[in-house]
Amino acid sequence: MNIFFNSSKTFLPRIDAIYLQTRALALTTLLGWLVLGFVPDEKTFLAEVILAAFALHFLTLLTLSRRKTNHINKLYLTAIILDTIATLVWISFDSGLSSPFYLGLYLIVSFASYLLTRRAALVTTGLISIAFVAVLWPEMHSLRDWLSVALRLSPCWIFVAVISHVAEHLRRSETRMLNLFDTLNKRTSELEKIQAQLESIYDNSRILAGILDVDEVIKAVMQIVNSVLKYPAAALLMRQGETGFLFRGRVVDEEINLLLKTAPEDSVDFLQRVCKLGSTVCIPDILNRDDYTALRPDTRSVMMAPMTVRRKTLGILVAESTVKGAFSERDEKMFWVVARSAAMAIDNSLVHQEMEELTITDDLTGAFNYRYFTDKLAEEQRRAARYDQPLSLIMLDIDHFKKINDTFGHEAGNLILKELSRVAYSCVRDTDVFARYGGEEFSIILPQTTLSEAQQIASRIRESIERTRFHVGEGLARQMVTVSVGLTSFPENGKSQDDLIQLADQALYRAKGSGRNIVQSI
Ligand code: GH3
Ligand code: MG
Ligand code: MG
Repeated sequence: MNIFFNSSKTFLPRIDAIYLQTRALALTTLLGWLVLGFVPDEKTFLAEVILAAFALHFLTLLTLSRRKTNHINKLYLTAIILDTIATLVWISFDSGLSSPFYLGLYLIVSFASYLLTRRAALVTTGLISIAFVAVLWPEMHSLRDWLSVALRLSPCWIFVAVISHVAEHLRRSETRMLNLFDTLNKRTSELEKIQAQLESIYDNSRILAGILDVDEVIKAVMQIVNSVLKYPAAALLMRQGETGFLFRGRVVDEEINLLLKTAPEDSVDFLQRVCKLGSTVCIPDILNRDDYTALRPDTRSVMMAPMTVRRKTLGILVAESTVKGAFSERDEKMFWVVARSAAMAIDNSLVHQEMEELTITDDLTGAFNYRYFTDKLAEEQRRAARYDQPLSLIMLDIDHFKKINDTFGHEAGNLILKELSRVAYSCVRDTDVFARYGGEEFSIILPQTTLSEAQQIASRIRESIERTRFHVGEGLARQMVTVSVGLTSFPENGKSQDDLIQLADQALYRAKGSGRNIVQSI
């Protein structure tokens, strides 16, 4: 049980200095009392002991008050006990019931009432009263004596009641005030933190808007979530088709991953509902919920914000916390701002990507266009020359295409061009560049490919096309189409980009001359 008020934080004046001065005065008076011979001879020794105890206590108090330790409270308590003993002894030395030293008890009680809790002060006053009666006991013979004692003690009880009440009221007000200051401090630091976060988000959003690569945008968003919002786990999911979701970025324990992984089946329904809702959603506690699979095994609460731009929801930003109900309304608002910036940046980069693809692809077939082909061939040829690696080039031309056009019409010709480029494209590797050279002619750049490897690929394409029956229009029979293929390789043939094109073209011309539907090389 604590009998002292908590004085670790206080507005109230420290009484150490006043108390020390008072005690110094009391000590001097006692010394004078003893030196001037007011103490009867037979009690001098006892008075000297009390004086020595007082002096020792005073010195300890002096030392501790300088060090400002918490032990000073214990010394105050010792002072109360010591003072009570000394005062009572002095009363008994003096004239007992008529001694004026009982006034010292008022000081002791007042001091105890200020220092101790109300209950402790009342107990102290009770003990002092009993001790006072005990000391005067031999002199108490009549009711008058008892009344006299009661008269002397009653101010003690008035002091304890009034001072304790005032002290407690002061301390309660002080505690309220200190709590208010604490709350104010907390709020201010929270506001400062939020302001710093908002500034950081604003700066990062501006940077986001300038990034044109989707992966780079996603990485930057994950960095914002990790370093500014500091959530233990977060993810960015992009919509895939009408119903699916794909993990594109994830951060767990400050480790950022850019991954392409389908979202678990059991979470899809929930994610779709968030998209439809169009606003931030929080799950305060995911325990016992089977409609969301968390990123961390110890996740307790989840927050999701749809990434919406131009009335389209591109995906969802997810944040997780290991604490139940961790996300406040403020977190939701901030997360929504980040999700919106992310949506705008992703949309921007997707539009940019589309535009770039449009400038390098052929509208009808989706293959790369002539300009991209020539740029790429020059680049690959330089690379092959520098690293001494082989490079092959295939030229492919549809046989008798004019006749097909004339027989089935231009539209049917277009259908064939589309389907044929799909078939040919399926026969090449990811590293190869498949382009529409012009009209019904296609070219394929095959980096790090020797002539014999290129021959195999060319034959595969020719055979696949020969096997395919092409759709030429509603109600018309599918048609067989063949191609002639010419190919050449670096470094065996041709040293420049133009040489390679010319040689592949010559090979193609020979293929046409040899009866078509054939692969020829130079
Ligand atoms: P060969 O076997 O000698 O290559 O005969 P060919 O008829 O294929 O050769 P030619 O160069 O005489 O004809 C090419 C035809 O391809 C002429 C043109 O109408 C047609 N053509 C070119 N571009 C397109 C196109 O985009 N769409 C359609 N439908 N036809 C095209
Ligand atoms: Mg042609
Ligand atoms: Mg042709």
